Amino acid sequence: MYGKTPKLIDEKDIRIDGRGLNDLRPVKLEVGILENANGSAYIEQGKNKILAAVYGPKELHPKHMALPDRASLQCRYHMAPFSVDERKSPAPSRREIELSKVIREALEPSVFLENYPRTSISVFIEVLQADGGTRCAGITVASLALADAGVPMRDLTSACASGKVDGRLVLDLNDIEDKAGEADVPVAWMPNLNAVTLLQMDGQLTLDEFNQAVNMSIEGCKQIYGLQKEALRTKYTTAKEEVEEQ
Ligand code: ADP
Repeated sequence: MYGKTPKLIDEKDIRIDGRGLNDLRPVKLEVGILENANGSAYIEQGKNKILAAVYGPKELHPKHMALPDRASLQCRYHMAPFSVDERKSPAPSRREIELSKVIREALEPSVFLENYPRTSISVFIEVLQADGGTRCAGITVASLALADAGVPMRDLTSACASGKVDGRLVLDLNDIEDKAGEADVPVAWMPNLNAVTLLQMDGQLTLDEFNQAVNMSIEGCKQIYGLQKEALRTKYTTAKEEVEEQ
């Protein structure tokens, strides 16, 4: 009705895209899809479509930037001009520079960087279509691309956001929920080490809601981790079958 904000959650606790409060969007993951990168992966999470590619470890240039005791993890999160409803400039925005930094920090603890002093490992995240939660989906897919590149890792990194919409806590906000909602809590988590490597909050929550949202995001990360393992398993089972057929 005119003058009334449309509700994003109905009286049966169903969200605008038909999900329940604790449901992830449908997630599709694929590993090893690019010929020329050392590792690659692709994610669709709802309407998000994101590609990640990894180069390295390789010699770092310029050499004075090389770290004597470990590899330098470099990360670029980039949104394609056609990824959002209005053309986005292809030049890196302040938001993309910040997201590149927080994504690098979320991935760094999972990688044995000390095994490759003076080298660089580059992670490229290309958002082809954005629909909310791209930093988390970007971390999830980049972690798979690192594993696909054969970079030694302590753990995978899985990421998921939760937030507050219409006064209710919900998992994995889409773009409409993100924009109209009251808060968003993205979390990245290393499942085997049980360590949080990214925790941000946008909006307002009480302390109790914040604690609930963090736990909800971690529950989402657990589901994402299951799908990551399945995607890696699929790649290596398929490769094994192809070798056996030869
Ligand atoms: P995240 O994608 O991690 O949730 P934000 O909260 O900054 O990051 O962005 C939420 C959503 O807003 C994005 O996923 C995308 O759908 C949309 N968005 C981001 N930047 C732009 C932009 N320049 N133009 C239009 N929509 C954008």
